[in-house]
Amino acid sequence: CADVAMYRSKSSGRNQSHFYSKAIHDEVLKRVTLESDLRIAVEQQQFILYYQPQVSYNDHHIVGVEALIRWQHPTQGLISPMVFIPVAEEMGLIDEIGRWVIDMACQQLAQWNQMTRNDVKLSMAANLSALQLNRSDFYQFVMNTLSKHEIQPEQLELELTESTINRSEIADKQLMDLSLAGIKLALDDFGTGYSSLTHLQLLPFEVIKIDKSFIHNIHSESDSHFLRAICAFSKALNFEIVAEGVETEFQRGLCESLKVDRIQGYYFAKPMPAKELEEKWINRTHLFR
Ligand code: C2E
Ligand code: MG
Ligand code: MG
Ligand code: MG
Repeated sequence: CADVAMYRSKSSGRNQSHFYSKAIHDEVLKRVTLESDLRIAVEQQQFILYYQPQVSYNDHHIVGVEALIRWQHPTQGLISPMVFIPVAEEMGLIDEIGRWVIDMACQQLAQWNQMTRNDVKLSMAANLSALQLNRSDFYQFVMNTLSKHEIQPEQLELELTESTINRSEIADKQLMDLSLAGIKLALDDFGTGYSSLTHLQLLPFEVIKIDKSFIHNIHSESDSHFLRAICAFSKALNFEIVAEGVETEFQRGLCESLKVDRIQGYYFAKPMPAKELEEKWINRTHLFR
């Protein structure tokens, strides 16, 4: 194994090289276990979607949700997508997981459409992985899923991060088709990559999701310049703006004064199971039928 060799050559003595290879052995074992557990998880659908509300800046009413996947591991409890999504991508399991996410999110949205007044149309955002767009039948899968659950394309939002965008011909074409069908495309984690502006110019995005890192460090007026500039930029180019990671009253107030279209963050709510969202955000509000 190349890694072991590298560590050996760096280490000075026998014992040390033994120590490093044991550490690597443990890592490999952990990874192999994770991989075989993940295969079983896909077979048995051990996943659940949590939903985090997005509220409008002025009246704090819920206008949409983001669906965020968790793995309900039989012995380890809930596992974060940041742990298993990259592994699923490498293992070629992300297609199947990603389709489950879209199907489940649409099924849930159909239920909420039933529960809410006819004029209420919550948006449902789902996150995409790069590999999903490389399969040429992805567009058709999304359209079929929408009609299966009788969801209007305008209610679905698909979130891509810069790393998700690989600009292959198939991927670009499908993004264009999804957009033409009325599905909203959002550029997630805006500001963290190097080519956000190129992507915004060349691909049919309608929504910019400002990355948490731009919100997180804002504690006073003097920290707010970056956020202000991003908002001015987004408004000038007619993008809808979502701020994620809003945690404090000050950050919320700032988003309100900047007229950020939708606010998402722990200040209002953490991601939660569907039942909880119904109890706290749908049944007890004006949205309810
Ligand atoms: P993301 O799409 O940028 O999602 C936002 C993340 O920020 C979520 O983490 C959410 O719980 C967290 N968050 C929201 N508000 C706050 C806040 O006020 N403070 C802080 N500190 N965090 C906040 P989560 O659920 O752990 O998801 C992490 C990432 O995993 C997501 O980042 C997304 O990139 C990926 N992910 C989640 N679900 C899926 C999925 O179904 N498919 C794919 N491909 N990726 C997914
Ligand atoms: Mg997202
Ligand atoms: Mg994000
Ligand atoms: Mg992210």
